[in-house]
Amino acid sequence: MLNKLVSFSNYYGKNPELVLAGGGNTSAKSDGIMYVKGSGTSLATITAEQFVKIDLSKLNEIFEKTYPDSDDEREALVLADLMASRAEGEESKRPSVETTLHALFEQTFVLHLHPALVNGLTCSKGGETLATELFGDSFIWVDACRPGYILAKLCCEKMQEYKERKGVCADIIILQNHGIFIADDTVEGLDEKLSKVMKTLENHLVKKPDTSAVESVAAPELDFAEAVVHIANADCERFSSCAESASVLLKPFTPDHIVYCKAFPLFVKKGEDVKAKYDRYIESYVVSPRIVIIEGKGIFAIGTDAKQAATAKLLFEDAVKIAVYTESFGGALHMSDELTDFIVNWEVESYRSSQNK
Ligand SMILES: [Zn+2]
Repeated sequence: MLNKLVSFSNYYGKNPELVLAGGGNTSAKSDGIMYVKGSGTSLATITAEQFVKIDLSKLNEIFEKTYPDSDDEREALVLADLMASRAEGEESKRPSVETTLHALFEQTFVLHLHPALVNGLTCSKGGETLATELFGDSFIWVDACRPGYILAKLCCEKMQEYKERKGVCADIIILQNHGIFIADDTVEGLDEKLSKVMKTLENHLVKKPDTSAVESVAAPELDFAEAVVHIANADCERFSSCAESASVLLKPFTPDHIVYCKAFPLFVKKGEDVKAKYDRYIESYVVSPRIVIIEGKGIFAIGTDAKQAATAKLLFEDAVKIAVYTESFGGALHMSDELTDFIVNWEVESYRSSQNK
């Protein structure tokens, strides 16, 4: 079972249409034990030792307990309970922050991804209605909410409702502004379900992202940044052509974009001083921007080093694709300001981001 888990994790992890940076996670369970991806590891390269062995009966106690309303207190206690659910000998490992969601499925294998195509649907205004049209009632839709315990509890309630209604555990959960969970007892079954979802969405597209390369330009106005990279593709050129086209990119689609690109790109109008706007951005948001959109010139990822800028570029290319996909699914629906603030301040996410620097 563990070998199969490692091999399908590596297989999906290497597909950039499905997995970016440290995103996504997988698990396998049998006889009250679950192996789940360790936090800070990457699906593409994960080894058997990087999965964390979890005692499911201990983990499931989290759903029976009551926790304080305060976000910080609650998440700290849930994290402590998550750590306490590790099997003996696993004390040096940290399980994925999404471990509790994997435990909701009775199926052997669980695959959780944030593909741009799926998020085109989850980040669209009519997402739930359209998902029902496309996939019938064989899945669970979960509205965007605070990650961690609140999300796990909401998914747990939805799964209970589904089981009462259908007599079986759902095998797909679609999370608004986040991604998808797929579960099956076989690896082949997982693959079939994922392919069906991807093909169905693909067939519904009226417009596809255009990532064809355009000429890369220098941006001397960003010389103050340690690392700068021009995201030189056709869509980015189109979105950065004026304030109106860029507006769809100025708020985050999913927590991943906040973690790696910061919540808001810096938009600089024609003729404005880039450094002055950059300084004002830091005054407002405390952090420095990772994405700078210069009107009429292009979109640039910046960072304290080349790797940070490269990761921001990768995730922003994903956001741009999502923006294009939403045009086929009812129009963009960003994360709410309230949820964005929460993620920005969320300790667990900052931990994850620091692990992936
Ligand atoms: Zn996720």
